[in-house]
Amino acid sequence: MSASSPRSPTFCRTFMSDVEPLFRKLCLVGLGLIGSSIARAARATSAVGQIAALDASPQVLARVRELAIADDASGDVASALNGADLVILCTPVGAIGEVARQIAPHLERGAVLSDVGSVKGSVIAQVAPHVPQGVHFIPAHPLAGTEYSGPDAGFATLFENRWCILTPPDAEGEAVEELAEFWKRLGAKVETMTSEHHDLALAVTSHLPHLIAFNIVGTAANLEQVTQSEVIKFSASGFRDFTRIAASDPTMWRDIFLANKGAVLDMLGRFDADLKSLQRMIETDDGQGLFDLFTRTRAIRRGIVEQGQDTAAPDFGRPHDERK
Ligand code: NAP
Repeated sequence: MSASSPRSPTFCRTFMSDVEPLFRKLCLVGLGLIGSSIARAARATSAVGQIAALDASPQVLARVRELAIADDASGDVASALNGADLVILCTPVGAIGEVARQIAPHLERGAVLSDVGSVKGSVIAQVAPHVPQGVHFIPAHPLAGTEYSGPDAGFATLFENRWCILTPPDAEGEAVEELAEFWKRLGAKVETMTSEHHDLALAVTSHLPHLIAFNIVGTAANLEQVTQSEVIKFSASGFRDFTRIAASDPTMWRDIFLANKGAVLDMLGRFDADLKSLQRMIETDDGQGLFDLFTRTRAIRRGIVEQGQDTAAPDFGRPHDERK
């Protein structure tokens, strides 16, 4: 998307200053990659009137003040939540239940409480018991991110043209619409599904690929016949793309695998069976079988590019001039 296209934050800053905010005050808890990106995007698109930031780390809050991406980053829980009609929990999944317990007494009646956790069943189990009467809890998961963490890693365009999945309980019609509008204002496309379906779909599209990347990079690191310097030197031949994924935040991914244990183990079982089938094809010189599989997987890649979910540039647009 070009910098001046109607949904880009540059366009929004210039032309959306008259647009009505969708929420009076947004309180973000956890100002890492995702929380700080929401702060930047919400401000750039005038999606909210004010932004308050809470984080367990005083250093993170100090950085948020330096970056000036929130109106209130004092760290005072009562004042951050005072008047907040949208609260989004952006901490690692393993910390989210305790965060919900701490903020619950300060949540205002009528407020929408949401999150961005990568696993939905576990987040609902942790948060729902603390949600006060009259607060609308709508779990969400923006399918956007990078391998970087912290408030400096965020950027306002992170959610543009990316999916945001909402997994609302049945009774929350109006609040779901309001939250969906918020994510659309940030540039996302919104889809609604059950938390069970979300966790299964994400186990195969996100959690399993990360597990494979962590494993393959670990295997290469443990190999004795190939030196570490060779692993780095020859990484361009496929390995490098795994290392990018395997550089993702250890806390976040530890929490995801433990929180989505059932679905991940289910997908791992299927993956294992398919890997054994590939192994048999190689052992039995089944060239046609290998060719057919690779033809199917190539078509999936083309579909992803056609839907604008990745670049069609060769080698992801990396520069190939060695002098660069
Ligand atoms: P991040 O950059 O590591 O940020 C998490 C922030 O939460 C950090 O500032 C952390 O502080 C803070 N925090 C940790 N425990 C806390 C607590 N108890 N109370 C308040 N703040 C606390 O992580 P992220 O990548 O933004 O991920 C945040 C959430 O988004 C996770 O639930 C993740 O599953 C989800 N998500 C991530 C991605 C992605 O690609 N990164 C994509 C979609 C969704 P410290 O630094 O001091 O620990």
